Amino acid sequence: MSKILIIEDEEAIADLEKDYLELSGFEVQICNQGDEGLKAALAGEFDLIVLDLMLPGMDGFEICRHIREEKNIPIIMVSARKDDIDKIRGLGLGADDYMTKPFSPSELVARVKAHMARYNRLVGSNQKNNDIIEIRGIRIDKTARRVIVDGTEKAFTGKEFDLLTFLAEHPNHVYTKEELFREIWDMDSIGDIATVTVHIKKIREKIEYDSAKPQYIETIWGVGYRFKV
Ligand code: CA
Repeated sequence: MSKILIIEDEEAIADLEKDYLELSGFEVQICNQGDEGLKAALAGEFDLIVLDLMLPGMDGFEICRHIREEKNIPIIMVSARKDDIDKIRGLGLGADDYMTKPFSPSELVARVKAHMARYNRLVGSNQKNNDIIEIRGIRIDKTARRVIVDGTEKAFTGKEFDLLTFLAEHPNHVYTKEELFREIWDMDSIGDIATVTVHIKKIREKIEYDSAKPQYIETIWGVGYRFKV
């Protein structure tokens, strides 16, 4: 049974969310304090976290950041203010989804199910065969060769698309520039490994909120790059 952690200080809301999720077959634990919530998130084997923003003890921004350092599980962030949602997106904390209160519990259940399914596909062995890759705010349609970032389509050149797709299909795997060059460019093509650096830079400009602090394609100094999930 999939386990969900709700970190939410408004008990009535947390209880309602719990009831609906349990009716849909999920096992649910609630934490009403931010700091306790973070501890539970890091200690427990949860499959998804519903995280409120304004919390006693520690706020949702910080909790999200800490969880992301350790775990890849889906996080749905919740706030009463639309402004906060924009701020969360802007900070690139790596939340998978955002909901503005009040929302219907059935909408939460639908989103939870969608994220669980996506996450299971992503970590599952069938990932390579999927035509659609979705990682946080990025959606890559391999068949149509289109990339949607936070709802907006971005134009990619052929090689940029190939490179992004290759990295996204092998999440958390560190590749050297040489490996990427061999993989994406033909052996006899003109260019060298500096081409990889240039293409990574262009991809980051399209997918990262802040290219200087990349949330997706990380530079592993002295080694190469990896797509962080
Ligand atoms: Ca709150």
